Amino acid sequence: MNNTKFNSSTLSELQQAVLAFRDERDWKQFHTLRHLIVSLNLEAAELLELTQWKRDEEVAALPQHAEGREALSDECADVLMYLLLVANEAGIDLGEAVRSKLIKNARKYPVEAARGVSTKYDRLPTEAVSVGIKTTHEARNIGINNSTDNDTDDTKETND
Ligand SMILES: [Mg+2]
Repeated sequence: MNNTKFNSSTLSELQQAVLAFRDERDWKQFHTLRHLIVSLNLEAAELLELTQWKRDEEVAALPQHAEGREALSDECADVLMYLLLVANEAGIDLGEAVRSKLIKNARKYPVEAARGVSTKYDRLPTEAVSVGIKTTHEARNIGINNSTDNDTDDTKETND
């Protein structure tokens, strides 16, 4: 089942809404980076809890029923809201963070080695991994503009 949907809210708009909710309640005083990271993980555990003791087919059926769908929706929202707060507190631009990490992941999991296999990157054929992401052209193919990439990773791009 592939029914992924996104509304028109940007991450920035959602982050502003979460910050407004926080500030209306004067909760910033409690939101240290550590407490936010703890809370993010607790919410992720609540999402995980929805699967506890269920068979794979029961978990897969959760979104098909109103109660299960609402529970999944609520916990996904809780996770994202805390992630937005963590990023805000740490001064991280989540859009940039995702694009940067996709480039790193593309280096670790080159398509020619990783397509259709679930093998961890450190067990992929080394010659394929050493090629990694090769060019800005390849980065563009995954929707990334890395022309200003100042990545300090040891696995630098090679030009072709
Ligand atoms: Mg929750």
